[in-house]
Amino acid sequence: MNKRTFIKLFAAALASPRVMRVLAWAGHERLRNWAGNIEYSTDRVQASTSLEQVQDYVKTQRKLKVLGTRHCFNNIADSKDAFLSLKPMDNVIAIDPAKRTVTVAGGITYGQLCPYLDSKGFALHNLASLPHISVAGACSTATHGSGEKNGNLATAASGLEIVIADGKVVNLSRERAPETFSGAVVGLGALGVITKVTLDIQPSFMMRQYVYENLPLSELKDHFDAIESSGYSVSLFTDWQKQRINELWIKSRVEEGQAFHAIPEFFGAKLATRNMHPIAALSAENCTEQMGVLGPWYERLPHFRMGFTPSAGKELQSEYFVPRQHAVEAILAVERLRNQVSPSLLITEIRTIAADNLWMSPCYQQDCVTIHFTWKPDWPAVSKLLPVIEREVAPFNARPHWGKLFTISPAELKRIYKKMPDFIELSKRHDPQGKFRNEYLNKNIFDA
Ligand SMILES: Cc1cc2nc3c(=O)[nH]c(=O)nc-3n(C[C@H](O)[C@H](O)[C@H](O)COP(=O)(O)OP(=O)(O)OC[C@H]3O[C@@H](n4cnc5c(N)ncnc54)[C@H](O)[C@@H]3O)c2cc1C
Repeated sequence: MNKRTFIKLFAAALASPRVMRVLAWAGHERLRNWAGNIEYSTDRVQASTSLEQVQDYVKTQRKLKVLGTRHCFNNIADSKDAFLSLKPMDNVIAIDPAKRTVTVAGGITYGQLCPYLDSKGFALHNLASLPHISVAGACSTATHGSGEKNGNLATAASGLEIVIADGKVVNLSRERAPETFSGAVVGLGALGVITKVTLDIQPSFMMRQYVYENLPLSELKDHFDAIESSGYSVSLFTDWQKQRINELWIKSRVEEGQAFHAIPEFFGAKLATRNMHPIAALSAENCTEQMGVLGPWYERLPHFRMGFTPSAGKELQSEYFVPRQHAVEAILAVERLRNQVSPSLLITEIRTIAADNLWMSPCYQQDCVTIHFTWKPDWPAVSKLLPVIEREVAPFNARPHWGKLFTISPAELKRIYKKMPDFIELSKRHDPQGKFRNEYLNKNIFDA
């Protein structure tokens, strides 16, 4: 099932007088995730258009999973039984200018939300590399952008409406029940169906994006903090060859005191003279505008443009979160693996993320640096490399991205996630029989 067919089927479901129905996957292709590396274990997908439909469906199913935009690379979203899609529930419900919040329905993507929010004079604090993903799915897996003062995308959430296993609606709020809320936001799809999310907003802002080429690794090593603090959001892209960072992306807010003043050479790297793709051989047409061109926050914070294929398209991804104080050590440890890693690698991205208080966030109570790998779509080769990388970053208690490929053992996950027992208890309160649990959750969380 390709993306176009998936979207067409949902459009057809919406047009139908009986919107509420199970889409038996009649096509020849099976339902897959965005990358195509995961074939889901059932083709039964129900699309809901209202809270009541979600409640009815949840009540009648023994087991189910919610599908967001299917951008995870592992089986976190998989189900053997049934899927629920909130794709038709993609509206902005309310903006509260006084409280500085926006409430959205559970199926909306950032690509849908952000231009609307900007047109009303508001912005989110940060975005991932792509706007194509759903807000609920991104928050559920602690999806992040970059910026040492920016928490992951889930840190913007201040309220959740969830349909739990018995079909009841539960409203959780950061203000009213901060502890429970901190446990629920990065919920890995385990608590129920998120039908509404309330997010913090701020006045809309403008940005400029600059790319530098060929930053010597030695400069990064000696000036990591200065480089990371040069912009609101900073990304480093490297193929680990030639002791250099191929591209340094600096996304800068234009307000007084925050603007990055581009100079031709920055720590030995040269200012690019054309728009670039993180994988230099690919067309920059898919990327957000660079070269210091002024633009709104939602067209500069992501690397990739809505309506275009993000990243490489045919790929796998893995990512590890390392406590910020070990950033340089961890980067150098991975660099030593360059000869092993490079044949399977498309590009590595290094980002920073601020600490948060969300129980299952890899940045729980620690500022982090992330080392990300965009791999060629060769799982046999990648699956052999992951344990090698994980061994190198294990001394730093590295945590894997919940939505990407990893081989870290459940026992290790349990060791490095101190709040896991509390999360299990919280999940069981909302879903005592494990209606929303699947193989991924049982292996990595509930049976760990
Ligand atoms: C090209 C590409 C670039 C990426 N860039 C980044 C990046 O910059 N930073 C980053 O951190 N990650 C990145 N990712 C990873 C990805 O964005 C996240 O893993 C995110 O979770 C995907 O959201 P989704 O809606 O597609 O979730 P899905 O894969 O559909 O689902 C993820 C989980 O969320 C649950 N879920 C989804 N919607 C709901 C709901 N309404 N209620 C309850 N549970 C729900 C699912 O059941 C599942 O458990 C990237 C992925 C791709 C393919």
